[in-house]
Amino acid sequence: MESYIFEGLIYEIACNAEKILSLTAAVMACSVCLSVPAFAAVGGDLIYIDGSQVKGWAWDSDAPDTPQQVKIYGYADGSDQPYHFGTVTADMYSDRAEAAVGSANHGFACALEWDRYKGKSFRVEAVVVTSDGERRVDDALYYDKTGDEGEVGPGVGGGSASTSTAGSSAKRGESLGIFVTTAYCNCDNCSGGHGKTYAGTIPQANHTISADIDIYPIGTKLMIGDTVYTVEDKGSSVIGNKLDIYFGTHEEAMAYGRKEVEVFSVIE
Ligand SMILES: [Zn+2]
Repeated sequence: MESYIFEGLIYEIACNAEKILSLTAAVMACSVCLSVPAFAAVGGDLIYIDGSQVKGWAWDSDAPDTPQQVKIYGYADGSDQPYHFGTVTADMYSDRAEAAVGSANHGFACALEWDRYKGKSFRVEAVVVTSDGERRVDDALYYDKTGDEGEVGPGVGGGSASTSTAGSSAKRGESLGIFVTTAYCNCDNCSGGHGKTYAGTIPQANHTISADIDIYPIGTKLMIGDTVYTVEDKGSSVIGNKLDIYFGTHEEAMAYGRKEVEVFSVIE
């Protein structure tokens, strides 16, 4: 049993590494064609998409201290008539923004309720609304409602890629009850800055969760909302009906705080 789970984890790591490599190649191949001088004033990137949200960052070099309004559009199955998924303010912490432009508070996240939109395969774009029109943020992301994986876009300066197993193919199983959930990241305060889970994996937002592994062993999948988490960590205070959810940034973990939520098993 244990060695089976371990092999599974190794396989997952190998898959992710392969994905990162192919993305790196894609970034290199595209970097020339994406340099459009007309859009030089607006910077940003779509970073991550899954069954519940799309994340990125955006800023306008003409107004670097003004949080930008970002419209999120989705084009279904090659259509040129997009859905408007929502308009969000780019004022969240983003380590990608900090790495790219030296200023962190330009991140955004837009909730996506995929069931509301007709279509299967979506190209998702973000545009910044500037005084002289809408400027597209580089690099669309793609999401397939029938698949079970979010796509990861090429990021500014590389950075870590993350995937999610949340998606329409994972079915909600039985209720495991109401859990007290808290949040953590990989910083010194939250987890001693180890950078790895108890399972030996690189923790990923919308994926990694810490549980009482006597009840929910490493590799157990648990569903909260639409997100399928995998138990990869444990903690001295994570006992019984308690879970600690991994977030990509300390700010997001703090913003989550402590919530009582219903947790479900997952039917795969
Ligand atoms: Zn932290």
